[in-house]
Amino acid sequence: MNFSDSEIVNSIMIERGLKPTDAPENADVIFVNTCSIRDNAERKVWDRLKYFRSVKKSVNNDMVVGLLGCMAERLKESVLEREKLVDMVVGPDAYRTIPNLLDEVEDGRKAVNVILSLEETYADIAPVRTTGNGVSAFVSIMRGCDNMCAFCVVPFTRGRERSRDLESILDEVQALSDQGYKEVTVLGQNVNSFNDNGRTFTELMDKVSLINPEMRIRFSTSHPKDFPDELLQLIAERPNICKYIHIPAQSGNNDVLKRMRRPYTREQYMELIHKMKKMIPGVALSTDIITGFCGETDAEHADTVELMKEVKYDLAYMFIYSERERTLAHRKMADDVSDDIKKSRLTEIVDAQHAGAKSNNELEHGKRHLVLVEGPSKRDENQYQGRTDTNKMVIFDQIDFKPGDYVEVEIIKSTSATLFGKAIKKSSITEFSSQMALA
Ligand code: SAH
Ligand code: SF4
Repeated sequence: MNFSDSEIVNSIMIERGLKPTDAPENADVIFVNTCSIRDNAERKVWDRLKYFRSVKKSVNNDMVVGLLGCMAERLKESVLEREKLVDMVVGPDAYRTIPNLLDEVEDGRKAVNVILSLEETYADIAPVRTTGNGVSAFVSIMRGCDNMCAFCVVPFTRGRERSRDLESILDEVQALSDQGYKEVTVLGQNVNSFNDNGRTFTELMDKVSLINPEMRIRFSTSHPKDFPDELLQLIAERPNICKYIHIPAQSGNNDVLKRMRRPYTREQYMELIHKMKKMIPGVALSTDIITGFCGETDAEHADTVELMKEVKYDLAYMFIYSERERTLAHRKMADDVSDDIKKSRLTEIVDAQHAGAKSNNELEHGKRHLVLVEGPSKRDENQYQGRTDTNKMVIFDQIDFKPGDYVEVEIIKSTSATLFGKAIKKSSITEFSSQMALA
């Protein structure tokens, strides 16, 4: 989401006549786009700001340093006091005002805009892409969140949920297709609750995926409380909608889920998982898990480990609970699981995840996948890396492929995180899916 937001800010800055630069030493303006989700995310930002202050002191005292995003929203003016590290503080809904705020700073004032909006979606701003190598792009379809999970700061930093108008999303995806992009990930805190005057996320996915049958469509994040069957059906039928679903459970225990204000039970969650696996054969699943939430007992934790073993997620983002100010958990519950216990529980959860993913990946040996080439492998320049439709990283020998090509690859071996394969031939979504249908 922040990468996507930075691309919007990029566009606003270029409009104002500034150009991006690679080295902080050459910059007149530096923005740090920030996350508040856990305390360690914020700590990294403070370190980064200190580094930029040292750059500023050594090369250009007039350099403007701005704090953007969720930390700006959470801490507001108080950031200006802290060690005089920043000149500007701009919340996630105030990026359009950055040019005016820069004028204020140039006039010698500090500038702050942290007003949240009920309408802002930046729908009319064409993001200037900095990620994805010309192959993959993010498209934000909604902003904010109304779910108010007890642990989460997002509703306070990103404000109320609002959806972009559907046509502006289709236009953006069409433009990406025209520019040769091969993969679009549509983004929101809870994409399933997308609602443009009654038009649903399933309708959006239907329309987006028809724009270019050779363009892969991914989506993130879905909330388990509202995953419609029609969407599962659409994923199963449409070859270019990726068979990969990120469906955060957070915990495998009903009492913890209740304390977290996640409005589903383990049983309902498992029913959804079974339905996904049944309706979309070969679907890959991932989750987010928080360990050590307020009052979590050994037995409650054991339920989460059990859930990991039962679902066998292909991927998981697993976190130690970090108390965030203003949230319900901060106001009403005690962060009473010790750091040591949180850490050892995390290790158990990570181990269960790795074991599940490893056994899933072993079942892939000998199977063929369509891989979208990203570029040279980070480990070995003579090899290429790319992803399957199911979002698994595959490493294979480089022949004469280039980023953005679809290649049919036979999987030979694997670890819990990576598949290794042999490239068979260049292919396409249409060709590969009809070949699979015949097989
Ligand atoms: N909207 C998405 C998640 C956005 S935040 C969803 O509901 O699925 C990404 C993940 O960060 C969450 O799923 C949760 O697992 C984790 N997270 C959020 N608040 C946290 C906290 N206070 N401590 C630890 N992890 C947290
Ligand atoms: Fe946070 Fe819950 Fe909203 Fe996700 S759904 S952003 S975890 S409040």
